[in-house]
Amino acid sequence: MSADPLVYLNGEFVPWDDAKIHVFTPAVKFGAGVFEGLRAYWNDEQEQLYVFRMTEHMDRLEYSQRCMRFAEIFESGHVSEMTLELLRRNSFRAGVHIRPTVFVDGIGNPEATGPIGIYIVAVSRPSPAIVKTGCRAQVSSWQRLSDRAMPARIKANANYNNSRLASVQAAADGYDTAILLNDRGMVAEGPGMCLFIIRDGVAITPSVSNDILESITRDAVITLFREQFDIAVVERDVNRSELYAASEAFFCGTAWEVTPIIDVDGLKVGSGEVGPMTRALQDHYFDLVHGRIGDTRGCLTQVY
Ligand code: PMP
Repeated sequence: MSADPLVYLNGEFVPWDDAKIHVFTPAVKFGAGVFEGLRAYWNDEQEQLYVFRMTEHMDRLEYSQRCMRFAEIFESGHVSEMTLELLRRNSFRAGVHIRPTVFVDGIGNPEATGPIGIYIVAVSRPSPAIVKTGCRAQVSSWQRLSDRAMPARIKANANYNNSRLASVQAAADGYDTAILLNDRGMVAEGPGMCLFIIRDGVAITPSVSNDILESITRDAVITLFREQFDIAVVERDVNRSELYAASEAFFCGTAWEVTPIIDVDGLKVGSGEVGPMTRALQDHYFDLVHGRIGDTRGCLTQVY
């Protein structure tokens, strides 16, 4: 990647510093935008960059736009094409985080549904160290936003003020991140990732009606546990105190990949070390996303 990567903005590939929108847009005023976060992984041996589950991400972006009632919808296929073109023009040869955003442009009031703009940003992003060592999480006093207030299962920009407050609080209190409970007091998810616990050899994760984002990584993890590891997965309500009973726990998401949780609220999860099921899943996940094992489920899109 060059020091000054190109950004896709409203039909053009522009230099980083020229990727600007007006301060008075509903996107800035109200957070009237929806976005996706994708990762692409570089395979050195094959000299190839792979985008993980691109279609699923772009389909969710389409759904997010419809949910937020945008006047114009940028379709999955088009955003995918522009994303691949952006990656090629920037000549990435390392892990990349990709962020397509569709937003309400112009100078409209809250009821404005257009004009609609689009940008795609892609930046190098290696995995953080806690992916290997595990993280310490705090059950937040901030509640996960309810689907009665905001569409919780989509990536609406404004939703992320909820995530941000929980993250800021966790950092101020000395934790790596947060776990949010929903308005029924059930475990929902992290600020930008979903959550699994392991109890008696069974993987348990809050169901999609617990105000979680319908995570694409969560879906992949469920499939891998069932089909690759022959491990049962249960999607159901999870209480806070169940977090303390788990033998293992981990977060999953595009940015967080598979990140072990070794401590919740200052209590060790299991032995306090990264658990064997989490480690095995994580190893498999990294082999899969890097294209080191056969992509039998068609999860990877080649960039070059
Ligand atoms: N929950 C939230 C709130 C998120 O922002 C994310 C990241 N997109 C996730 C969960 C994980 O979703 P995915 O696996 O689709 O990246």
